[in-house]
Amino acid sequence: MQIKESTKEYDVCIVGSGAGGGMAAHELTQAGADVVMLEAGGWFDSEDFAMFTWPYESPRRGGSTREQPFGEFDACFGGWDIEGEPYTTTEGTKFDWFRGRMLGGRTNHWGRISLRFGPDDFRVKSIDGMGEDWPITYEEISPYYDRIDRLIGVFGTNEGIPNEPGGIYLPPPEPRCYEHLIKDSCDNMGIPVIPSRLSIITKPHNGRAACHYCGQCNRSCATHSNFSTPSVLLPPALETGNLEIINNAMVREVTYSDGKARGVSYVNKKDRKEYKVRAKVVVLAASACESARLLLNSKSTDFPAGLANSSGTVGKYLMDTTGTSVAGLIPKLMDMPAHNEDGVGGMHLYIPWWEDNSKLDFARGYHVELWGGRGMPSYGFMGGIQNYNDMFRNGPKRSGGYGKSLKEDYRKYYGSIVGLSGRGESIGYEDNYCEIDPNVVDEWGIPVLRFNYNWSEQEYNQVRHMQNTFRSIIDEMGGHALWDMPGKEDGYGISNPGQIIHEVGTTRMGDDPNTSVLNKHCQAHDVDNLFVLDGGSFVSQPHKNTTWTILALSMRGSEYIAEEMKKGNL
Ligand SMILES: Cc1cc2nc3c(=O)[nH]c(=O)nc-3n(C[C@H](O)[C@H](O)[C@H](O)COP(=O)(O)OP(=O)(O)OC[C@H]3O[C@@H](n4cnc5c(N)ncnc54)[C@H](O)[C@@H]3O)c2cc1C
Ligand code: SF4
Repeated sequence: MQIKESTKEYDVCIVGSGAGGGMAAHELTQAGADVVMLEAGGWFDSEDFAMFTWPYESPRRGGSTREQPFGEFDACFGGWDIEGEPYTTTEGTKFDWFRGRMLGGRTNHWGRISLRFGPDDFRVKSIDGMGEDWPITYEEISPYYDRIDRLIGVFGTNEGIPNEPGGIYLPPPEPRCYEHLIKDSCDNMGIPVIPSRLSIITKPHNGRAACHYCGQCNRSCATHSNFSTPSVLLPPALETGNLEIINNAMVREVTYSDGKARGVSYVNKKDRKEYKVRAKVVVLAASACESARLLLNSKSTDFPAGLANSSGTVGKYLMDTTGTSVAGLIPKLMDMPAHNEDGVGGMHLYIPWWEDNSKLDFARGYHVELWGGRGMPSYGFMGGIQNYNDMFRNGPKRSGGYGKSLKEDYRKYYGSIVGLSGRGESIGYEDNYCEIDPNVVDEWGIPVLRFNYNWSEQEYNQVRHMQNTFRSIIDEMGGHALWDMPGKEDGYGISNPGQIIHEVGTTRMGDDPNTSVLNKHCQAHDVDNLFVLDGGSFVSQPHKNTTWTILALSMRGSEYIAEEMKKGNL
């Protein structure tokens, strides 16, 4: 095989253009570094996408395809099942791996829930003896959260909840009708409900227009009013003239010699040829599992088990958020007159963790994401409507129907469903890992990942608590849960590992090179010019969604790279 090697040596080569890679490109180019970014997916510009498309404009009405699993209007190219890029699982275990394949990765269609980790989240082992403490504290990372809040823009409120630190917030939007009802019931039950924290700008911010409340954030945003890397981070990076982006570049491995990373080799997916890029510093930000895969596939005499893997920890301590949901039909919301539910493409209120774990049979908390309302109908909306009438035995009619009767039901029930989704912290275990499957390669001949992941009693007990709580809230609202309480045999409705799409760990940070891959700057212990700036560095996985912390750690790690380069240490 002929490999085309460029003679140019960049200062920094970044693999991946999602949250971690986008922030690294932004910071390093501003610091004057000459940066090349390699992205396996194609170009994406939200201004050319489907923000203003009505479902009736497409014969598919927005239905999903293999390449666009959330529907053709959703700004997601990639998904659980990418043609030519398989992964495997160990028999008897489950893991669902969601991958973006586009400029900006999964930041184009993520939920924009932008929560900071709290002080306790960095010292979990000291509190309950499980998992591991981080080598950094909240105080060390909070200046970077502040900078991100100012740079990107996020709405919310400062509530003074100790382990839910506030930020520098834009005003939050008003709660919707169904959110008021959930809050009223939760107030009666002593459960806090507070404004959500989403990286959507409710006022003009750093040259970007304020959100105009179309509610379609999953389609990215043609006015750049929510956060994605192509909307917010890559344009200023490109403007410096210091950034070159190479799309459709599937990185195979990190090249290495004499104690240093030398660059990467990649397959150009268009001409299917192999290329090499040289750089003084290599930053992996291909998402936690893919960065682990790249290291495990980068074998040499010095590192026969994979680059920077002298600890044997690469791929281990993989964690995902726990999740389960309950939806309910709320009679008070039925037959509502048409009313304005304008707002952002996401919840306006949420429930932060409120209980004391020392009194419960699980160690870590969860938050609750709320959904419902009268958003624009999309393909498959109100699925299961034929069953709703049966929930009201004394109601005017029984289930089923078509024509006029079905239309009446749609009007009656539109906006009357609310949902509560729990998102909980799982514990990091060495036995939950990804490794290279020795028998399978992808379309490009690159060995693929094999996952091994099991939930423990901790996570099952936590989701049972979620299920019971959500059902009580729906009862308090006078509603009917749409499905029965799942039993122990169904894991109380827990989602498969990976399904909540917060996979982190795999190259965790720590002070001890025998038990961690990275130091507290996300720099490999074994190879000082190699950094991992995605969720791979996480030591634990607080229930707060991961991305705000990926961004903060990437900003912090990039600042360190720039300083070390200036000192001549890299
Ligand atoms: C539907 C959905 C909703 C979500 N909601 C939230 C939320 O509300 N809040 C939150 O905090 N998080 C949320 N997330 C998770 C969030 O999207 C991720 O945490 C975040 O995008 C991770 O950033 P990353 O840079 O590590 O990876 P990604 O954003 O996945 O970017 C990685 C990039 O690397 C590229 N790449 C991978 N392998 C290679 C390779 N070998 N060579 C070259 N390039 C490669 C990929 O193509 C991709 O573009 C959500 C995710 C999804 C899918
Ligand atoms: S709701 Fe606001 S941020 Fe979201 S897509 Fe519409 S205008 Fe953009």
